[in-house]
Amino acid sequence: MSITKIDKETFRQACRAAADDMEEFGGLSREIAEKNLVRVLDCFRRERIGSHHFGAGSGYGYNDEGRDRLESLYALVFATEAALVRQQIISGTHAISLALFGNLLPGDELLSLGMPYDTLLKVIGKDDPPHPGSLRELGIDWRVLEFDFTAPDPELVAAAIGPRTKILAIQRSRGYSLRPALSVAQIGKICQIVKDKHPQVIVFVDNCYGEFVEEKEPSQCGADLLAGSLIKNIGAGIAPGGGYIAGRADLVERAAYRLTVPGVGREMGASLISNRLYYQALFLAPSIVAEAVQGVIFAASLLERLGFGVTPAANEQRSDIVQAILLGQAEDLIAFCQGIQRYSPVDSFAVPEAWPMPGYSNEIIMAAGCFVQGSSIELSADGPIRPPYTVFLQGGLSRYHTKYAVIRAIEDIFVS
Ligand SMILES: *Cc1c(COP(=O)(O)O)cnc(C)c1O
Repeated sequence: MSITKIDKETFRQACRAAADDMEEFGGLSREIAEKNLVRVLDCFRRERIGSHHFGAGSGYGYNDEGRDRLESLYALVFATEAALVRQQIISGTHAISLALFGNLLPGDELLSLGMPYDTLLKVIGKDDPPHPGSLRELGIDWRVLEFDFTAPDPELVAAAIGPRTKILAIQRSRGYSLRPALSVAQIGKICQIVKDKHPQVIVFVDNCYGEFVEEKEPSQCGADLLAGSLIKNIGAGIAPGGGYIAGRADLVERAAYRLTVPGVGREMGASLISNRLYYQALFLAPSIVAEAVQGVIFAASLLERLGFGVTPAANEQRSDIVQAILLGQAEDLIAFCQGIQRYSPVDSFAVPEAWPMPGYSNEIIMAAGCFVQGSSIELSADGPIRPPYTVFLQGGLSRYHTKYAVIRAIEDIFVS
């Protein structure tokens, strides 16, 4: 799609209407934030979190009380038996890998609901020969269930389970694709029907970008195991790095054996920096997620008013913080990302370019003027350089910032 320049007055009106939409359609996310904040606060109180948990550890990290208590707190928030929350987990992909490598054995099958996120393809070993160190190299099979995310049919999922299927992997967020996110209720329905027919199957959910967007998490609706990144939703822009896994105790334990070593698991691994930031992040995450959601609602409304395809629509219910905008042309995708960068608090002077980022199959352009490197709970815009040249906009610690940056980025490209 190519649009002719928009005149200033039309643009101003569209911005005003989009701000009204943010107020109106953002109401639900504010209500959810309030409920989640109260739920998280209650968990802090029940776990009796105190300032004595904020210290850092050293060496082997035996009896690292701040770390252990943070993990109990996560388990309480996710309503799971156990959690692994570590500074040593380098990314969301790492957390997901630990969950998979820890719980799959040669001869087992991993069944993915739809194509998984780009960075997981080498972990799985999609190509032949499989990537060194991948699941498939170890003799773990992988199958993708082509799935209609717009009309999820849990019966089809249950029917696709094979005799060797050990893990069913579900990605909650859209990731870098145009499929919709799965709601927690939809995931719950899949869990219920799959468990009913195949109780031995482990339902794993890639929860990246999903935390606190809804009132419940997939673990509260039947999922056995979740994994996510601490530089996305649950890190609230405050956690300086890390990842988490939450779920059934035996499954979390096996993932911990992959992170450290069999027999040691969660017992070791010092908190090398103070855990205060991780506690503070969890406390603020529900509120920050609502900021992010409201910011992208503004963007959805504005871009839709200007004639672009957007998904989800401004008034649609959300289960992740990602907003896809179909810009239609490589040059507009690049210009938009460069615009978001220009109006970021950090590295505003940098000009992002498309590059072959490790783990991704196409060149990617990324705008990320973030305090935490690569953080995508902070305002970030990125997209693979491939048709339909979609920009994925996510995060935003302040909806006022997202609104301003989007207005300026669009104005610089399209307004005469
Ligand atoms: C971000 C993300 C991941 C993991 O990405 P990292 O950059 O490794 O943290 C995995 N799945 C989805 C859906 C994601 O959004």
